[in-house]
Amino acid sequence: MHVSAIIAAGGRGSRFGSAQPKQLVELAGIPILKRTVDAFLQGYPFDEVIVALPEELAVNPPSYLDDVMVVTGGARRQDSVANAFREVAPSSQVIVVHDAARPLVTAALIERTVNAAYQHGAAIAALQARDTVKRGDASRIIRGTLPREEIFLAQTPQAFRVGVLRDALALASTASDATDEAMLAEQAGHHVHLVDGDPRNLKITTPEDLVLAETALQHHPRPARTGRAGIGYDLHRLVEGRPLILGGITIPADRGALGHSDADVICHAITDAVLGAASLGDIGRHFPDNDPRWKDASSLDLLRRAVAMLADEGLQVGNVDVTVILERPKIKDHVDAIRAALADALGVGVDRVSVKGKTNEGVDAVGRGEAIAAHAIALVRSR
Ligand code: MG
Repeated sequence: MHVSAIIAAGGRGSRFGSAQPKQLVELAGIPILKRTVDAFLQGYPFDEVIVALPEELAVNPPSYLDDVMVVTGGARRQDSVANAFREVAPSSQVIVVHDAARPLVTAALIERTVNAAYQHGAAIAALQARDTVKRGDASRIIRGTLPREEIFLAQTPQAFRVGVLRDALALASTASDATDEAMLAEQAGHHVHLVDGDPRNLKITTPEDLVLAETALQHHPRPARTGRAGIGYDLHRLVEGRPLILGGITIPADRGALGHSDADVICHAITDAVLGAASLGDIGRHFPDNDPRWKDASSLDLLRRAVAMLADEGLQVGNVDVTVILERPKIKDHVDAIRAALADALGVGVDRVSVKGKTNEGVDAVGRGEAIAAHAIALVRSR
């Protein structure tokens, strides 16, 4: 999938009331625009990132925009997006539009929105209303109470398949002032899907918002650029009369792994890797082998439980890579099934799960076929 990002930074932020354009104001020591662009460059493997700037900035952009394409914005938001859209590569399939004034956007939110747009054609991040919603008239008299389960507050990112955004922007010249691209896509007759937004994904409109964003940053520091890595290892003896289960899949074999549970070395190594990345201990601490609850437990289920523990910490798996060391049988015919089962348990796409088989060249216990071992590495990041 070829994905482009457009960051709309073409306005001057007059509601903010500062001398310099709002997007250059610093949030905890770093310009808002740099934070937003970095969140995009680091949060998703975009094929290109295009930033629409006011003309005076576009002619001499700040150096932190060296890795992105810069275009001159227009009078209205939709004009800025249209200017950027003209520069999108012909191979692009999905285009994400984001407001520069939302610097706290997370990688997970970008990915949710991109995936939903790829699947449905158009999708935006939005928060369901929590407060009771009233409609009032010009004299501040309530004229009705709206059903809040039908009220969603739009955020960005907003993502579109290229044809949908083209249709939307074709209306932009005649539409008066669309406050977002989804509105134009709706008017063009497309269904726009709602994905769960993030309450921390604040839009910085006033100086008070800047204070709120600084507080949010203190309480939820951004993860390091590389996320957090964890490592896992497992080994089980191979004996006759036991099934050989790897990544939840039963592999035809004359011997299986001995253990209290199903002795699935792939799941055990990955569980330790994801728990390790989150500094949450190890498999033995959470699922001790002397606890009858885990006797004959599905290790794929234990892995699911570990992923749920990560979610409670605000973390999710980015990717995992596993090496299985087994003299026989060869696992290559089963690798796709194993990856699919692991991806489901980990809550990630199959492309984020790698499984590789090796032998031990006849050396040591593993080489003599007396044992099976697995090494795993996992990357986790904020949800
Ligand atoms: Mg084990």
